[in-house]
Amino acid sequence: MNSPISSFAAGSCTLVGAGPGDPELLTLKAVKAIQAATVLLVDDLVSESILASHARPGARIVYVGKRGGCKSTPQAFIERLMITAVREGETVVRLKGGDPFIFGRGGEEVEHLREAGIECTVVNGITAGLAAVTSLGVPLTHRDHAQGVVFVTGHAKTGAGAAEDPTDWRALAATAHSARLTLVIYMGVAGAGHIERELLHGLPGDTPVAVVQHASLPHQRHVATTLERLQAGIAEAGIASPAVIVVGDVLRGLAAAALPADAGRFGT
Ligand code: SAH
Repeated sequence: MNSPISSFAAGSCTLVGAGPGDPELLTLKAVKAIQAATVLLVDDLVSESILASHARPGARIVYVGKRGGCKSTPQAFIERLMITAVREGETVVRLKGGDPFIFGRGGEEVEHLREAGIECTVVNGITAGLAAVTSLGVPLTHRDHAQGVVFVTGHAKTGAGAAEDPTDWRALAATAHSARLTLVIYMGVAGAGHIERELLHGLPGDTPVAVVQHASLPHQRHVATTLERLQAGIAEAGIASPAVIVVGDVLRGLAAAALPADAGRFGT
């Protein structure tokens, strides 16, 4: 991988966060990078309107998510494509949902390109977890309810069984309870039953929970419930991926406010 040829590359590579969906939540830096790109490698969760508005005519757009009709493109293939394009002198933008460094494999891509002698620039995006709670008018931290926030993945790499799950949900729950932390769980809908059971070892059953699907988009939906009804609430509301699960006392009052499940996008 450590080819010296790469040091002569005229191209560049930028990992760009496309935000949670609403095209107006892009940063100015993201817009400029997209406008400058000659090659764009685009993930599934990136809104089509972002490309329609900002990609230059003639830019090569490669969809590397499931949108192309097949299963998502293997990571190694994406990285090879990026390296080849940079070496050919292209201005490559890797467009990723939310923030590139929050559960987006952005870290792996930067490492692998660096091994190939290519330094990537990274442009932050608004991560889905942040947009999800803001859209409900709820702060992730509020000094009366939370001292901090944990972003955690609910996706166990090797399977959803407790034995293989690398996340110690019980320890996390106990810490969240004693240290007053809000939990923001990405990729957790499929494993919601397991997460609920484990978290109940350290957090009270009536801890408020919200599950927000398609945050910041016109078809955003959410359900507000309690930890002991997490899985049931998701099933009853028919919520599916992409969604984030938020757990914590900052959500107190949300259920009482009785926002409809498809309530408008509050601050976004
Ligand atoms: N880098 C992304 C996260 C990628 S992991 C970011 O910073 O947002 C993919 C997960 O992100 C999904 O399974 C879901 O949990 C969450 N997600 C992404 N977009 C979302 C959206 N618009 N609404 C709710 N959840 C979203």
